[in-house]
Amino acid sequence: MNLKRRKLLGGFNRYRLMLTLGLAVLLPAVALIYVNFSQLRAFQRDKVLEAAIHRDFQETLGITEKNLNKKAYAKVSEARDMFPSPDDSDQQKEKRLDQILAECGCFAHAFLVDDEGMTFRSTPGADEYVRKEHERMAKDYGEWLSGMEAKSTVEALHKKSQHIMFYPGFSKRADGPAYLSTALFVFPEISKDRLVVGGVTFDPCYLKSNFFQGMLDQQITQRTEEQGSNPTAMSIFAPDMDGEQMTQLATTTGWGEGKPEVTRKMDDAFRPLMIGIKFQGTSVAELGRSWIRRSFILLCILSVLVVGGLVLTKHVVSKEMALAKLKSDFVSNVSHELRTPLALIRLYAETLELGRITTRDKKQQYYRIIRKESERLTALINNILDFSRIEAGRKEYEFRPTDIGDLVHNTLDSYRYQIEQQGFEFQEKIDENLPPVTVDREAIARAVVNLVNNALKYSADDKYLGVNLYRDNGAVKLEVIDHGIGIARRDQSKIFEKFYRTGDPLVHNTKGSGLGLSLVRHITEAHGGAIEVDSTPGKGSRFVLSLPLNGSPRPGLSQSI
Ligand code: ADP
Repeated sequence: MNLKRRKLLGGFNRYRLMLTLGLAVLLPAVALIYVNFSQLRAFQRDKVLEAAIHRDFQETLGITEKNLNKKAYAKVSEARDMFPSPDDSDQQKEKRLDQILAECGCFAHAFLVDDEGMTFRSTPGADEYVRKEHERMAKDYGEWLSGMEAKSTVEALHKKSQHIMFYPGFSKRADGPAYLSTALFVFPEISKDRLVVGGVTFDPCYLKSNFFQGMLDQQITQRTEEQGSNPTAMSIFAPDMDGEQMTQLATTTGWGEGKPEVTRKMDDAFRPLMIGIKFQGTSVAELGRSWIRRSFILLCILSVLVVGGLVLTKHVVSKEMALAKLKSDFVSNVSHELRTPLALIRLYAETLELGRITTRDKKQQYYRIIRKESERLTALINNILDFSRIEAGRKEYEFRPTDIGDLVHNTLDSYRYQIEQQGFEFQEKIDENLPPVTVDREAIARAVVNLVNNALKYSADDKYLGVNLYRDNGAVKLEVIDHGIGIARRDQSKIFEKFYRTGDPLVHNTKGSGLGLSLVRHITEAHGGAIEVDSTPGKGSRFVLSLPLNGSPRPGLSQSI
């Protein structure tokens, strides 16, 4: 595949990846974020949360009122069951009514109106306020129930489901204004034609501190158990005589200051009282605001995470694609590199076999070419084998104290002819009296060969190769210098990665696998050393491999590159 076509395909793959990322991930993610943001804004604008809380509050108030009524009806009907008969004597009636007042403790007055007249009793030992109330009520109810409207009232009472009707009233007690609720009722067992009406008046103190308070506390406890967070408080208000100012009759703990969030006018047993509800220490509006704020912050964090995840995915996928490209380049480079020396070896061997070459010199030259090409092949195969061993974690080093000067010199010697043949000026400077270094000989020789080969491969017109070996502090340093094409700064850290080859045209025209320097780095690090490069594009490169003298080589199996 030629370079241009490969580049085109690479571009196409990248474009496809971007399209997939964009359509399959980015677009839905952005849409989701957008929808969530606009939904939140709609929530904020339409006060949806506030409305939902208000609905919930209304429901609680409705239930509370229903329970209050139910309880009031139950108390009244209990009292009615104990009422005297209209046919009893006056003393019997009084005794019975006193008994009802004493037993329940929830009523201030109890009375019976029949054909004989009215029996009206109040709590015994009551103060002057109750006595006055007694007189007033006995007079009012007596007049009303023996007057013109008595008959229609009795008829209306008989039509009611429990035959009970409540009438509100206001009075005064020692501690201030008092709210009264009087229940009138008829007796289902007594004929509709007889005018017999019973009545009980709830004691205002009992209503305040027992009846209302108990019910409100019970409702709040139930609500807290069911809903948990954000405790609420409830209160019952009574309008003043003129119906304008409201006074609190009963309140649960934590009401604090402020107005109720939602109110409900009570009907039936406790007309015209009102029940109210609010959050303890906060308001619905504030709660809505802080919920919206929290949701916005959470959404922002999630959006940042999604975007971050996308960027990371793109980065990882691009890296994987680059590696895949490097691998495919590697396969084509290696097959090319294998084919060329093989073809040459075959060509020269066949020519020799045909016996057409007669001169000795020519024969020697052909043998040399065959040897050189097989050496190149061996070096390449060794590199690949080493690389695969390292990748599989099976590469083992055999460290032995070695005369490093000798090792480097002998390795260079087998290349000397090739170096000179290619027209290179070659300078070798190996310090004498270098101390022995513990190394794997084969591995170090391979590192030297790779560095020298690169210097030969990546030099253009200025053909120079310098190899220096010297002691520097606690290390022995091997320098391989060329005046070749050099390496751009941005590539200098990457050339030691596997399969990496720079984009220089000369590099593209030169065969290579991109494995050499990654092996050199692996070998050096296994010896506890380091490899560095110092290079200027167009001027040349200097690779410095340093091996510590008393360093600790890493024995045993190697890690992957
Ligand atoms: P290969 O030479 O097989 O491509 P290497 O791992 O030995 O693989 O080198 C990696 C890359 O580093 C080369 O492709 C080349 O671009 C660059 N390189 C290595 N040595 C030199 C050098 N002496 N001068 C210029 N570039 C070099």
